[in-house]
Parts: sequence; C-alpha cells; structure tokens
Amino acid sequence: MTEKSTTTKDDRIIDGKAFAATVRGRVASQVEKLKAAHGVTPGLSVVLVGEDPASQVYVRNKERQATDAGMNSTVYRLDASTSHDEVMARVVALNEDQEVHGILVQLPLPDHIDEEAILNAMDPAKDVDGFHPINVGQLSIGGDASVPCTPLGCIMMLKDRLGDLTGLDAVVVGRSNIVGKPMALLLLREHCTVTIAHSRTRDLPDVCRAADIVVAAVGRPQMVPGDWVKPGATVIDVGINRIETDEGKTRLVGDVDFDSALEVAGAITPVPGGVGPMTIACLLHNTLTAACRQHGVDVPAAD
Ligand code: NAP
Repeated sequence: MTEKSTTTKDDRIIDGKAFAATVRGRVASQVEKLKAAHGVTPGLSVVLVGEDPASQVYVRNKERQATDAGMNSTVYRLDASTSHDEVMARVVALNEDQEVHGILVQLPLPDHIDEEAILNAMDPAKDVDGFHPINVGQLSIGGDASVPCTPLGCIMMLKDRLGDLTGLDAVVVGRSNIVGKPMALLLLREHCTVTIAHSRTRDLPDVCRAADIVVAAVGRPQMVPGDWVKPGATVIDVGINRIETDEGKTRLVGDVDFDSALEVAGAITPVPGGVGPMTIACLLHNTLTAACRQHGVDVPAAD
C-alpha cells in the first residue's frame, strides 16, 4: 500500500510553463544589462534543414523567444536536398561570424547529412545545445560547459522545487546522449546519488521505488505508473509521446502515467506544460552565457 500525499494535487504539479516564463524574463533583463554595460547583443543562429513539421514549429518558437528576449535571432532554412558540404559551410561561416554567439543545428538532419560531423565542426564556445564532445567532456569533469537544454531545464526545476539536492537518491530512466546521460551528470554535480536505468535494467520498478527523484526520459507512453514512485518523491517527466484517444483523436502524454503518479508523488511535471517549455528558456540562458564568455564578461546579475 502506498501512502497518499497530504498536499493538494495542484500544489504537487510543477508548472513548467510559468517557471519557463520566469526564466525567459530573467534572461531578457540580463540581456538588457549586457547591452547597456558592454554594448553586446547576444546572437543566436539556427540552421534548419528540410521541412519536418515538428522541427519547423520548434524553430519558429526558438526564433520568436530569442527575439522577445532582446537577442539577435537568425534562422537559415535550407532545402531538404541541401548537401552535407553546404550545411558544413554554413556552420563554418557561423563559427567565424563575430555577431553570432550561439549556433543550433536543428535535429534530426536528413539522412544524407553526417550529423556527427556537423555537430563536431561547431565551435564548442558557440554550441548552445551542449552536444559537442568538448562540452560533453567538460560537463563530465565539472568544467565550464554548455549544458544540453532539456536536462538543464530539469535540474533548474528540481532545484527550484526542492532547494538543495545533496544526498538525494535520483534515478534517471534513459541513457541517451541528449537527455539521460547529461541529466545524470547534472544530478551528480548537485551531489545526488545517481542511478542510470535503461532497457536492460533489472527490476526497474524497484529501482524507481527507491528514489527521491525519478527522471523519466524513455520515449514510451505512460511507462512509469504511480506504484513505481516512492510516496513524496519528485517526478520529472521528459517524455513527449503522441497517443490515440478513444475518440480517435490524438493527445500528448509523457513517459509517466500522470494520474496515478500524481496520487503519490510529492511533486510532478505534467506533459504538456512541464519540461517542454523549459527547453527553449534554457537555450536562451545558454546563448546569453555563451555571449558573455566570448566577450570575457560576467553574466549580469538578475534583478
Ligand atoms: P532515446 O534516445 O530513444 O533514449 C531512450 C532511452 O530509454 C534509452 O536509453 C533506452 O535504453 C531507454 N529505454 C527504452 N525502453 C526502455 C524500457 N522499457 N525500460 C527502461 N529504459 C528504456 O530518447 P531521448 O532522446 O532521450 O528522449 C526520451 C524522451 O524524451 C522522448 O519521449 C523524447 O521525445 C523526449 N524529449 C523531450 C524533450 C523536451 O524538450 N521535453 C527533449 C528531448 C527529448 P537503451 O539505451 O538500453 O536502449
């Protein structure tokens, strides 16, 4: 039997949309201060190859939110048939452009383009997605790295909700390079005791039940039910899965079965409206940080 939480359900839902708006507002005020004090306007350039509808929506949102934060924002929309060499040339040109502080190549790229070679060609100082091997290495040795946006958003939400994470037992379900592994490293940096679970993990329910923090980044709709969650634990649901409803429509769900997990969790992120909005907010945060580092100035204090 699991104990029921004594707080209201509303109190237990982490509002990622509201928190992301706060982060974006903070970045906008820092950008204003950076401009006033040093005459530097952070510049973000996004390279989008092809017409993938989801990527088009993401890129439009990134462009709009960067502009709203007072940044210079440019999107290079390249045809799906653009060659590998042409995409590479665009990245090299952006590396050399002094007005550009952050470069983001929207993934996935079409099959004929060598994604790894493109990401590796990026100047690590401008890699605001944090995927370059130098940034991956810096994160793992505790250096000044550009941190992948989605896990950065998760750790910000966890710290906002729980404060000091020192000593907490955290389980990350999923070991991808873009979410699971950097998430685990960030939790380790916060002095959590971290378990990384994956498709070969034995007794996954028990592994999850032992955790104070569960981060689900699997890509399997509603895989983590409430009875895998320790009463009072904090659940961060990174998954974005589209499922069919009984009415023949579709809706987005996470990797956690929200309704049953909400009954026992101390706090939980919904899908949509949890981790998702934080990803772009963190992209803006990374672009601001990259601009400051490239100009050798401190990130202005937030109001
Ligand atoms: P991914 O690269 O496919 O990795 C999935 C991970 O889940 C793998 O490590 C896999 O283990 C593990 N896994 C698969 N089935 C499992 C099972 N039955 N039990 C335990 N582990 C299992 O996915 P990803 O890119 O990390 O993304 C994960 C989810 O997050 C997706 O739904 C994606 O759409 C979402 N996402 C959201 C955002 C956002 O902004 N909110 C950003 C990025 C991703 P193995 O390594 O053993 O195969």
